[in-house]
Amino acid sequence: MKAQIIKAKNIIAGRELECMENAAVKIENGKIAEIYENASLLPKDMEAEVVDLGDRTLIPGMIDCHNHLALDARLENHLVKMNDCECEQTIRAIKTMKDDLVSGVTTARCLGDRFYIDVTCRQAQREGRIAGPKLVVSGIGMRASHGHGYVGMPFDGPEQFRRQARENIAHGVDFLKVFMTKVINATPFIYHFMSPEELRAVVQEARSVGIPTACHCSGGQGLDDCVEAGIDCLEHVYYITEKQVETVERADRWVVYTPSYALNDTLLFKFSPKDREGSLAEKEIICNCLRGAVKGGLKFGIGTDGLHQGLAQECRYVSELGASNKAVLAGVTVNAAEICGVSGKTGSITKGLAADLAALDGNPLEDLEALKHVAAVYQDGKSIELG
Ligand SMILES: [Zn+2]
Repeated sequence: MKAQIIKAKNIIAGRELECMENAAVKIENGKIAEIYENASLLPKDMEAEVVDLGDRTLIPGMIDCHNHLALDARLENHLVKMNDCECEQTIRAIKTMKDDLVSGVTTARCLGDRFYIDVTCRQAQREGRIAGPKLVVSGIGMRASHGHGYVGMPFDGPEQFRRQARENIAHGVDFLKVFMTKVINATPFIYHFMSPEELRAVVQEARSVGIPTACHCSGGQGLDDCVEAGIDCLEHVYYITEKQVETVERADRWVVYTPSYALNDTLLFKFSPKDREGSLAEKEIICNCLRGAVKGGLKFGIGTDGLHQGLAQECRYVSELGASNKAVLAGVTVNAAEICGVSGKTGSITKGLAADLAALDGNPLEDLEALKHVAAVYQDGKSIELG
């Protein structure tokens, strides 16, 4: 493939997400081969196709840190649909992958899908048989019997969890996922469903093959148990307390914010078993907790939890919770890549990394709304058809 030069008014480059004005990047063999600080000083004899993005801003392709391929929260009764047959769920996964890619998401971290759909789709995407984000997958999400986890499967006792962890590993997953608590809590006490022994069995299995662990964890004792057991990434943390923020910070763990489920009224009211007033009270509690987590400086990624094409809105919510635009952008690019374990391959506009890029109308460091205006997407240097 002929080398390409992409010029843009702004290029948000490097792991520090520095905004370079009137710069250019050279793409060769699907990788970022060079970054030129001044697009007007490009070598004249260079053989390359030049794409001028004009006033647009070039950012790293976004990474959805918490996704489920066959869960599509845009649909009515989407949770019931998790009982659809394998074939139906796979068809849905292929559609959501395409939808996510055209919204600028070039990598997605999958927190559990039935039937190893995520593992199959990861391979199909790599081989170019289906279009979508590059996938970082966890296979079968593991939950306790009668515990929370619509997309997970039930197990009981450390040995059952251990066995499934090994099964997931044999399928080649990139990390292991467990479900500890509910999503939105309707009671003052936050239920949790896995024992410390079960958690530890999963963490041990993951560590024995050098992969990380993630846990669906809203708060309460369940959150403390996760930190104690050595879970690497805590998902959702809707009810994290001030004290727990300190503990998580000290333990140097990641959190992934999925604020829509608590801040987007349509979704919140759908989930709460209480009336509208109860849901609104819950929303206020959650916002305060999440604000505390952001203020406490926890290192974070951002995810949609199956609200496909909604990553830009999640970013808006995280900024409303107090994060700076740069921290938010890092949560869907450089830091997200760290969480996914792919920072040596993608997640920033850095020489040698994959040319996974998105061109935006507007600069997200000035206004995050720009993330909703994706004008072009590149994956491994290939321009993606957005229509
Ligand atoms: Zn989830």
